[in-house]
Amino acid sequence: MGRHLSHKIALCPTPEQVDYFKRACGTARRVWNWALAEWHKERALGRTPNAMALKKRFNALKYRDPAWLDANGRPWLRDIHRDAHAQPFAHLAQAWQRFFDEIRAGKPAHEPRFKKKGRCRDSFYVANDKFRLQGTTIRLPKVGEVAMTEALRLQGKILGATVSRTGEGWFVSIQVEVPEAQFYRKRTGDGMVGIDLGVKAAATLSTGERVQAPMPLKKALRRLKIRSRRVSRKLEAARLAAGFAPRAPLPKGSKLAQSNNCRKSAQRLARMHARIANLRADFLHKLTTRLCRESQAVVIEDLNVGGMLKHEQLARPISDVGFGMFRQQLEYKAKRYGTRLIVADRWYPSSRLCSRCGWKNAALTLRDREWTCPQCGAQHDRDLNAALNLERLATEGTIPYRDGAPAPYTRTALPVASPSGNGGPAIAIMPIAGGKVTPVRYEPQCGSGQEEKRVRNGARF
Ligand SMILES: [Zn+2]
Repeated sequence: MGRHLSHKIALCPTPEQVDYFKRACGTARRVWNWALAEWHKERALGRTPNAMALKKRFNALKYRDPAWLDANGRPWLRDIHRDAHAQPFAHLAQAWQRFFDEIRAGKPAHEPRFKKKGRCRDSFYVANDKFRLQGTTIRLPKVGEVAMTEALRLQGKILGATVSRTGEGWFVSIQVEVPEAQFYRKRTGDGMVGIDLGVKAAATLSTGERVQAPMPLKKALRRLKIRSRRVSRKLEAARLAAGFAPRAPLPKGSKLAQSNNCRKSAQRLARMHARIANLRADFLHKLTTRLCRESQAVVIEDLNVGGMLKHEQLARPISDVGFGMFRQQLEYKAKRYGTRLIVADRWYPSSRLCSRCGWKNAALTLRDREWTCPQCGAQHDRDLNAALNLERLATEGTIPYRDGAPAPYTRTALPVASPSGNGGPAIAIMPIAGGKVTPVRYEPQCGSGQEEKRVRNGARF
């Protein structure tokens, strides 16, 4: 049974190739929008839409319908390789499937949306029989050989490729079905670690280590402000020059003529955003890989990232570190290293419990960085104490703690630990083997494309 992985490689295309890439992305986007509009129409008529039937209909009209012909009456779709305009139908079907699955699982979900130029991820697909790799070049249909910055690192059956753009950079993500042996990585340690995520230190480990995140956004924020102000000023000028009302949204369908300087400064801004995203991803990848490689069990909190982002003071530092990405990276890396990832229940009072005796400090506030346990006298650093409390979830299904001082000392079972990633039922008691957790192999799952995930999350954080 093979596993799916993908490797994302930067491309060095020529200007002509970039031109084709842009047109192919535009085609994929336009076909997606057409298919989604038709989908909604079918639903409005009370029918059950079907992506493959839509594709058939599209194939029948794509070289004839006036909407898909250029000014000379020529079908411009012929210039774009067909994978770019066939794949959106499959993607749309997947997107609806995911939407309904999430609804059924009771998770917050949103319907597939229309893609807007400049606001969506630009990408197009190439099927595995349509491209060929040779060392550091990839031969793509319609554009020929494109230089890559490195050769494909994975060995196995190539499943397909997606060409995408980030800022001004072009990338190809190659999906490969690799043998199990290549999928699983060797762990170098058998420790157990609890991780408290925070704003002061990005991560405090139960080993006592504090990991500081590079705060790229914070440092770059001033620059970012200046640059985005420059861009918006130029856009505003272009708007006035074109006779549009200032600060009002452009009428639908109208196009603003932009000066070269305006375009250039927009590019500069995009590059800056891309750099920040790279710094953040690099830090998180290194940290999550290290945690999974060196531990047999990793315990984290179930942070309500969406809720925290609504908090005015917390939003920026949290998105700067990328907590959402952190969790997702841990999830797929834990699978590869055979590390058990335990996610504490959202209501587990990891900061409030004394990690030595289990007394619960109900009066602890967000401001208290340090506190002393009145029961055993232990001095606690807030973050380290929380990390220690999380760590013990790896070995204990029950945590000794008591609510309020005069109550008799009881061992309270907390329905807290649930293995993450496989969607299994929450279990209260971890397997205990001489105080250690036995590593768990996860059930085979398809389509855990690591780079794909990174990119998807990168867009959000
Ligand atoms: Zn105590």
